[in-house]
Amino acid sequence: MSGIVIVGAGQAAASMAAKLRSEGYTGAVTVIGDEPCPPYQRPPLSKAYLLGEMPLERLTLRADEFWTDQKITMRTATNVQAIDPAARAVTFGGETLGYDQLALCTGAPARRLPAAMGGDLPGVFTVRELADTDAMAPHFQPGKRLVVIGGGYIGLEAAAVARKLGLSVTVVEAAPRILGRVACAQTADTIRALHIANGVILHEGTGVEMLLGQDHVTGVELSTGEVLPADLVITGIGVTPATALAQAAGLAVGNGIVTDSLGRTSDPQIWAAGDCAEIALDGGRARLESVGNAIDMGELVAQNMLGANIAYTPKPWFWSDQFGSKLQIAGWNAGATQIITRAGDGQSFWYFRDGRLIAVDALDDPRAYMVGKRLIEAASSVTPEDIADPKVDLKSLMRR
Ligand SMILES: Cc1cc2nc3c(=O)[nH]c(=O)nc-3n(C[C@H](O)[C@H](O)[C@H](O)COP(=O)(O)OP(=O)(O)OC[C@H]3O[C@@H](n4cnc5c(N)ncnc54)[C@H](O)[C@@H]3O)c2cc1C
Repeated sequence: MSGIVIVGAGQAAASMAAKLRSEGYTGAVTVIGDEPCPPYQRPPLSKAYLLGEMPLERLTLRADEFWTDQKITMRTATNVQAIDPAARAVTFGGETLGYDQLALCTGAPARRLPAAMGGDLPGVFTVRELADTDAMAPHFQPGKRLVVIGGGYIGLEAAAVARKLGLSVTVVEAAPRILGRVACAQTADTIRALHIANGVILHEGTGVEMLLGQDHVTGVELSTGEVLPADLVITGIGVTPATALAQAAGLAVGNGIVTDSLGRTSDPQIWAAGDCAEIALDGGRARLESVGNAIDMGELVAQNMLGANIAYTPKPWFWSDQFGSKLQIAGWNAGATQIITRAGDGQSFWYFRDGRLIAVDALDDPRAYMVGKRLIEAASSVTPEDIADPKVDLKSLMRR
């Protein structure tokens, strides 16, 4: 009884395991995750759950009975230490478990500041796991001083929650502007204005020298020499794909576990999906860190394990909630040569590359998001002039 073993019990693993059953696979399915709980959704960890507006039960992706009913063995609090590709087995604790096919859905843990910079001081948090949010939430009390290091989506979401709960909040971003890696200047300007209007202090183009404190963090020393007093610090400085297991097993690893168009790694019996997987995207290689990708790729790998032979066509989409505003993103904006701003129900920013629509950021504008997503997926010939013209009805563009 070898069957299929999935390492990591997050979003991609949950989708993959469920899909194996819905596609009719009757062999053994074992999901092994190192967190103490069955798969849950991470996005609320920096949004509604951190704010205290979402109960724990709603984070869980499936009730425990689902896994039991589907005869999927869910092993939690179990770290897989090694893969032996020749023996087709994984080891954890003192146990060895054989597999016919193996999937790596190990995700991408949050980067931390090194201990030499004070990164391990009490009061310094990252936002990746439920345990992280549970540990920091009690510190979110009115009047406390929070410094967020990193102006990406997760840091900015945590900053917004903290302001809502009455903390004084400063965001420090080393790059010239917030959201530099993921969004255009227009989107960043809109989000910056939202934060400033809600009382967040922003330092852009400013590095961090050191986190200060003895038994607990007390401040952040900036590259300018200024010291920001802090009762707590959140580092939102990106993630590193969990590739160590794959690398030690001799699998090809680049900016993630290298997969082919089917989701297969360099070992034909081993697959990868979700945040840890490097995929072909838009003529290059990339990793997508999003729920949509974890679900789609997880399900696709399940089908391909059963012989479907379907190539993965990523359809990137993402969202972010800050101060009651919703930013929805469709497409992949790398290499954009032109950005068009359009006012609608809210505001939207349309990315074109050499005249072709490649992505849209829609702020409080679900219609722009929906139309943009469809146009991108249909490889529509919509032009920058169409989008720039306020007289052109967006929905009419989908009928062309
Ligand atoms: C705070 C936060 C907010 C987010 N907001 C959004 C959002 O608004 N929209 C969006 O689309 N995406 C968002 N994301 C990203 C999204 O949650 C991830 O892209 C998604 O969870 C990836 O799924 P995954 O299965 O690849 O990895 P994960 O869900 O991270 O699961 C991987 C699991 O594998 C475990 N693991 C790793 N190595 C081992 C091992 N050796 N043995 C056993 N277990 C192991 C890890 O501990 C982890 O539990 C957010 C993420 C975070 C952290």
